[in-house]
Amino acid sequence: MPELPEVESVKVNLERYILDQTIEKVEVHHRGLRWPIPHNFEEMLEGQKVKMLVRRAKYLLLYFEKADFILLWHLGMSGRVQVITPKALTPRQTHDHVEIAFYSGLKLRFRDPRRFGAMLLVPLKELSRFSLLSSLGVEPFDNSFSGPFLLELFKNRSRPLKAALLDQKIIAGLGNIYVCEALHCAKLSPLRLAKTINHLEAEILVKAIQAVLRKAIAAGGSTLRDHRQPDGEKGTFQDVFKVYGREGERCLRCDHVEIKRILQSNRSTFYCERCQI
Ligand SMILES: [Zn+2]
Repeated sequence: MPELPEVESVKVNLERYILDQTIEKVEVHHRGLRWPIPHNFEEMLEGQKVKMLVRRAKYLLLYFEKADFILLWHLGMSGRVQVITPKALTPRQTHDHVEIAFYSGLKLRFRDPRRFGAMLLVPLKELSRFSLLSSLGVEPFDNSFSGPFLLELFKNRSRPLKAALLDQKIIAGLGNIYVCEALHCAKLSPLRLAKTINHLEAEILVKAIQAVLRKAIAAGGSTLRDHRQPDGEKGTFQDVFKVYGREGERCLRCDHVEIKRILQSNRSTFYCERCQI
């Protein structure tokens, strides 16, 4: 599933192609995504000029020059946005559910085999209380996200650090991969209870989360299966994972100690027993 760095890299890549471009035609081939694509979707978007792209957690928000709504886009588990230039026009595939054509000749295709993605139109005046967004926690790159702030968020939380970091209502955008990597970077055990971390550890964890995310964004995210940037480029952060997917391999910090894999809430956690305490 795409996490913050993958969605951020999709956003940055898309900006290059669709900023200030006007939508000519929208074709919806399958409305049954996670929530149905609204029936006025095509009519509302045609003629709109893209003014701004924003990422909030794992959502992409498209703002238009003259619209009183935004397009809220979630890539789901395996969704992929593809930019198709007029010269490289390929036939539509089975799971290409939505196509957005611009007057520039460029086309966006949204492929989502598992259909867990979403494309919704949200009125601007409802945005601040739109439940999918308003329930989200702090952005890891927000100025307010600091050691003392994290300490406050984790106070009284009797859940393991791993679960607390995955909770989108506390911090938005982190998923399994980056939580494992950030905890290794911060030398904190995923099994520690969130409420037990001290001031210094909270500072280190905030810095670790930001460092891991920043590096992942710079690498275009991680491509384990489906993730591609809209222009087709793969992310490369998987090549420099320190713990994720490295069960049985040696810890890159302690050398001969093997990375462990355990299950937490039915999901794999990778960590080093020696240096993560
Ligand atoms: Zn280690």
